Amino acid sequence: MNKNRLETPVQYLKGVGPKIAKILAKINVFTVEDLLYYFPCDYEDRRTIQPISSIRGPENRVLIKGVIEDIEHNVSKGRFSIIKVDVADNTGSVKVIFFNQPFLLRLFSRGLKLIISGKAEFNAYEGSVQIIPRDWEIDDGKALGIVPIYNMTEGLYAKLLRKIVKTAIDNYLSEIKDILPEEIITQNKFISITDAVSELHFPKNLDIIASARKRVIFEEFFLFQLGFGLIKKQDECLPGIVIKSADEALSEFPLPFELTNAQDKVLKEIFTGLKSGKRMNRLLMGDVGSGKTIVAAITAYTMLKNGYQVVVMAPTEILAQQHFAKFSEWLSQFKIRLVTGTTQSRGRKSQLDDDVIIGTHALIEDEIKFKNLGLAIIDEQHRFGVIERSILSQKGTNPHLLFMTATPIPRSLALTLYGDLDRSTIDEMPKGRQVIKTHYIPDKKRSGLHEFIRKKVGEGQQVFVVCPLVLESEKLDLKAAIDEAKYLQGEVFSDLKVGLLHGRMKPKEKEEIMEDFRLKKIKILVSTTVIEVGIDIKDASIMLIEHSERFGLSQLHQLRGRIGRGPHESFCFLLGNIKTEEAKIRIKAMLDYIDGFKIAEIDLKLRGPGDFSGLKQSGLPSFHLADIIRDEQALMEAKEAAFDYVKNDSMLKNSPLLLRAVKTRYGKFFGY
Ligand code: ADP
Ligand code: MG
Repeated sequence: MNKNRLETPVQYLKGVGPKIAKILAKINVFTVEDLLYYFPCDYEDRRTIQPISSIRGPENRVLIKGVIEDIEHNVSKGRFSIIKVDVADNTGSVKVIFFNQPFLLRLFSRGLKLIISGKAEFNAYEGSVQIIPRDWEIDDGKALGIVPIYNMTEGLYAKLLRKIVKTAIDNYLSEIKDILPEEIITQNKFISITDAVSELHFPKNLDIIASARKRVIFEEFFLFQLGFGLIKKQDECLPGIVIKSADEALSEFPLPFELTNAQDKVLKEIFTGLKSGKRMNRLLMGDVGSGKTIVAAITAYTMLKNGYQVVVMAPTEILAQQHFAKFSEWLSQFKIRLVTGTTQSRGRKSQLDDDVIIGTHALIEDEIKFKNLGLAIIDEQHRFGVIERSILSQKGTNPHLLFMTATPIPRSLALTLYGDLDRSTIDEMPKGRQVIKTHYIPDKKRSGLHEFIRKKVGEGQQVFVVCPLVLESEKLDLKAAIDEAKYLQGEVFSDLKVGLLHGRMKPKEKEEIMEDFRLKKIKILVSTTVIEVGIDIKDASIMLIEHSERFGLSQLHQLRGRIGRGPHESFCFLLGNIKTEEAKIRIKAMLDYIDGFKIAEIDLKLRGPGDFSGLKQSGLPSFHLADIIRDEQALMEAKEAAFDYVKNDSMLKNSPLLLRAVKTRYGKFFGY
């Protein structure tokens, strides 16, 4: 096969050269193909110019055309250059300010005609409006059209970038192949990929941009989901562990309570997976407190009864300990071992032949070996990366996999991150749950809270007090929690036992504190966010969060999920001092919604997928144009089309172009 001309280094494109190539590398453009797929972030319709006199106050977007009347250059002490250019049309004139581009002096002269787009600001000092250009060009009298606006980087100029993109389109556009299957193109009435790419850069009219975007976005999602489709197909070829009895196991399990319909439903789905002959690869989703642990334990029990070993991994030591306690109670006839950083350093044991092994990250260390692993359960799985997931599962021969997440992930994100997993959802809370009442309390109005707490503690209930994140500094977090505990113990509740829990404590100490809290020796537990995930205490009915405005939304929801797990009316008090608009939205979302999915959706909108509750580590693929939130509909359609496609051509043997495209674009994400 001929070398793909699209892979030509951008340096060899006419008008580029090594110097500009270096600058382009900063925006991740290395090849001609990268350049063609470096799409504008916006467009400007240069066909409608504003009269200068119409600009009277701040405006985000202005577009003017005029003649340079005067040029003034100032260099300040810090060698900061400011060029002020007076530009006039026949309605008036305005100052245009160019920061730090002294070389423009060589280009500008009186009488020169410019077209300038940018924003208008009010300069209070001068008492007049001025324009900060985003882009400009010399008006050569040619017809003005729709101009692409690209994200820029230092050293790159809009005009230059437009010129080299134009060169790339003129010389290489025809090299782009339509790789989408014919039937998908006709079905969706897509325009050709070459038209789409070219129209995205230099659209004939504004209407065509939408169809061009649609085409490119679908293709991106389609290729990406093909990647998942391939993994899934490969997985399905692996023989899974087949178990004989599942339903009987359920009837034998000593249930501590009646399961909810939702728990029953997901267990059926899980059993079907375990018996299918294929490896199970399932994500169990359910809001905080929906009861995933018992489902995990019953699944574990089923595998144990069939003679297999089970491993459970959790992200924190406290949570691993809690699971260890629960599993020990529910699965008392089996040998259960706890493996954490601490137990490992106490006395390393690496060949583990217990029935159930529960632990933290320590489980994926090289020397840890299992005997007969049949099921790996990962709790709070969003805390782990794709890699950790696979390392654990490779410690056995195709063990069944059950991932659990208490951070409800919006559907679109789940599809993106876990496109290869089957999903089960617990969409119902155990009966008799109290609705948690959430209140926002501005700092100055907090008096009265302590009496309220005292009253509730008097009735046998327990309280969490969570101290804030202080400027991302763990040390200061610690101090805030320590001080708060001292204050509450010393001056407010000297007659009650106040406990303190934070991440710097030795695991042994943490264990003791949690145990004392569980045994209700401690009534009020002051803590940093270490209690955020998983902790389950029945009588805890008050969650008081200091400086709640500093917490992320999903984190607040997780914290709130620590209460309302027993029979008591429960209260979440968000203390704080809202300063930003975003904090206001977060707090309002907490007051308005209790449903974790709704909350996750808002959080995702606020923060974007990259930052979404610890998902960072698992990494997201990067798309040229597609956005998994905004383009959710397209994502769903592309997924369906991609999974359909691999049904007939399971390894893409008949579609080498598609296979190559999946690999070059998303190979890193899928670990090829
Ligand atoms: P999560 O889904 O957040 O991991 P847990 O598994 O910790 O939730 O369950 C929350 C609490 O609800 C636990 O105390 C658990 O014992 C209890 N629970 C779970 N299922 C039921 C049920 N069907 N009926 C009553 N209580 C339940
Ligand atoms: Mg849990």
